[in-house]
Amino acid sequence: MQDPLAQAFIKEISEINSFTELVNLKAKYIGKKGIITERIKSLGKLPAEERKAQGKILNEIKNFIEETIKNKEQELKQKEISEALKKELIDITLRGKDFYFGGSHPVNKTLLEIVDIFRELGFTVEEGPEVELDYYNFEALNIPKDHPARDMQDTFYVSDEVVLRTHTSPVQVRVMERKKPPLRFISPGKVYRRDSDVTHTPMFHQVEGLMVDEDVSFSHLKGVLVYFLKRLFGDIPVRFRPSFFPFTEPSTEIDIGCIICGGVGCRVCKGTGWLEVLGAGMVHPNVFKFAGYPEGKYTGFAFGMGVERLTMLKYGIDDIRLFFENDIRFLRQF
Ligand SMILES: [Zn+2]
Repeated sequence: MQDPLAQAFIKEISEINSFTELVNLKAKYIGKKGIITERIKSLGKLPAEERKAQGKILNEIKNFIEETIKNKEQELKQKEISEALKKELIDITLRGKDFYFGGSHPVNKTLLEIVDIFRELGFTVEEGPEVELDYYNFEALNIPKDHPARDMQDTFYVSDEVVLRTHTSPVQVRVMERKKPPLRFISPGKVYRRDSDVTHTPMFHQVEGLMVDEDVSFSHLKGVLVYFLKRLFGDIPVRFRPSFFPFTEPSTEIDIGCIICGGVGCRVCKGTGWLEVLGAGMVHPNVFKFAGYPEGKYTGFAFGMGVERLTMLKYGIDDIRLFFENDIRFLRQF
């Protein structure tokens, strides 16, 4: 289009960047009062010859303008779409949001490991209430009201006859009331004592175990518990020391060679080279009597352990309170 009008139009449209501008430009040239429209209207004033030639040119320019505007419209639409896409574009090279997997609490991990080992030995799992009758927590375990052994445990009393259980041993009594030997089970769970320092918390976990039958002897106790300790801690030395518990006779405390210093003596084993890990013994005849078993018919052994203590030894943790502070930096280490 060599016509100066067409040239002017081309220059103007090339500078346009929006639909509004385009609508205005269209009105300027070919609207009701547009430049081209006005010129076409005034064709009538021209002589016939010129009118024909001018009319042809004006029509061509008009068609050209219409066509160009249509193209520009398409171009603007396209531009709008690609800009919208650019805005919504996701940069897949950017670092994503951090997320973390949950995990087992170290105490829970040890607890499950303990349960697994005893399950392999044919022990089942029994549970009982945490709010327990004085009778099951003490009385039926050969710890009468005036027994000095009650001083061994600082008890949370709910009322005169109801306590927060101080050990999981009452589960033994409850199971023996319900079932006849042979019995072979462990009872894991929470226990409560009025105690709080670097190695004690008012709530902690215990696993107690009981095996009762007609001919269960101390060698069964030894066999089961030595196997258990070697499974849990690896091939470590194990020793038995005589001890006292009201509900077992004879009673023993079981130590393992210190896994921190290898037996040389350190702060954790207090220089002895040994770590106490289990209490155990042959079930006291009075406990069977409370359970209603015929006198002298059955023998058995019982044992108990603190899960937090075993976990502390296993992972070399020196403050029990870390287990209950829920500090994610601590928990992530397991
Ligand atoms: Zn040591």
